[in-house]
Amino acid sequence: MDFNLSEEEVLIQATVHELAQEKFKERSQKIDEESLFPEQNIKELAELGLLGSIIEEKYGGAEASTMSYSLILEEISQACASTSVIVSVTTMVGLAIQRSGNEEQKQNYIPKIAEGQTLGAFCLTEPNAGSDPSSMKTTAKLEGENYILNGQKLWITNASHSDIFLVMANEDPKLGRKGISAFVVEKSKIKSGTFTIGPPERKMGLNGSHTSAIFFDNLLIPEENRLGGKGEGLGIALKSLDTGRIGIASQALGIAQAAFDSSVNYAKEREQFGQAIGKFQGVSFKIADMKMKLDTSRLVTRKAAWMNDQGLNHTMESSIAKAYATEAAFDITAQAIRVHGGMGFSKELPLERYHRDIQATLIYEGTNEIQRLVISRNLGL
Ligand SMILES: Cc1cc2nc3c(=O)[nH]c(=O)nc-3n(C[C@H](O)[C@H](O)[C@H](O)COP(=O)(O)OP(=O)(O)OC[C@H]3O[C@@H](n4cnc5c(N)ncnc54)[C@H](O)[C@@H]3O)c2cc1C
Repeated sequence: MDFNLSEEEVLIQATVHELAQEKFKERSQKIDEESLFPEQNIKELAELGLLGSIIEEKYGGAEASTMSYSLILEEISQACASTSVIVSVTTMVGLAIQRSGNEEQKQNYIPKIAEGQTLGAFCLTEPNAGSDPSSMKTTAKLEGENYILNGQKLWITNASHSDIFLVMANEDPKLGRKGISAFVVEKSKIKSGTFTIGPPERKMGLNGSHTSAIFFDNLLIPEENRLGGKGEGLGIALKSLDTGRIGIASQALGIAQAAFDSSVNYAKEREQFGQAIGKFQGVSFKIADMKMKLDTSRLVTRKAAWMNDQGLNHTMESSIAKAYATEAAFDITAQAIRVHGGMGFSKELPLERYHRDIQATLIYEGTNEIQRLVISRNLGL
């Protein structure tokens, strides 16, 4: 078993670490407090080719490993979790097109994402179809050489800043999940019908990542925009989530690492009763527990990333990593607030933001109950 990162992975990690710590960290408080979309962070990541890190070189990406991708998201999240969500969803859309698109679709869309000309949006959830996407109501009706889309999607990350939307819609509701197909909607090329983006949701965290409802009203898109075959849409979406969940685990790991580092430093510096608070077992054992959870999260996350890089089926391992790392990070960020006492509750420090931001990771890309469902099914239960 080799726990070493490759030379390339070490280099990518160091590059993103420097960018995130020197630039993103100081911007993150304002981004959170004013719900600002982190334009500058995204621009700097795009300049380094990090919006297409795991996309193949021939489509404008860096063709880095999934391990590198995990490291990138972890490093960004240590400074600004909102920025990492934007990158993770964009990458997921690029990867889905790379995995399931025909050559023309790949040439058309992926370079725009990988080179940072546009972000990507992944459109699966609806008001009455969250954990159970097969019950979606959005329809796609083939008329001549075009599809007509009608319906609504909810909670769409990047909707207000994307031109490329990967939309799952049902071609034949009688067939249930087997009627769902995937479509690429390029907003700037819409010729007929309406495509409306709602205002950003008001959320408890990840305030720099804007999330909106979107509405299709007789939206006409060419038949050639269907990704994969008829009825393959849910499979395409779920396959995307296998990699996406490694990204969410990596985000959680980054947020937890930042909370942990701050706790260790604070426990060494803050004195009460004439000594550093870290000398009290009540504090040091909390930090030891945080460290155990952090290291275990890193192991399960890297295992899933490694399996993806080896071409092994990693559906269950991605779910394990996502559920474990996000719940560990939830505990770690809560304990970090306690270690910092009143300062943990203050907006002067980012501890309270870490704990707000982490909540979404337990929900999106499948709630942690759904991850347990995936794990149980993989065990034949
Ligand atoms: C910040 C944020 C960003 C998001 N971005 C996107 C995006 O870009 N694209 C997108 O398509 N979606 C996105 N989502 C939506 C997200 O994926 C859904 O919120 C999630 O899948 C849960 O669906 P729901 O909210 O409808 O909850 P529900 O499905 O209604 O679940 C409610 C509760 O019931 C539980 N539950 C449901 N079914 C079961 C079951 N079978 N067994 C046990 N428990 C169950 C759930 O775990 C949860 O606790 C985002 C959500 C958030 C919060």
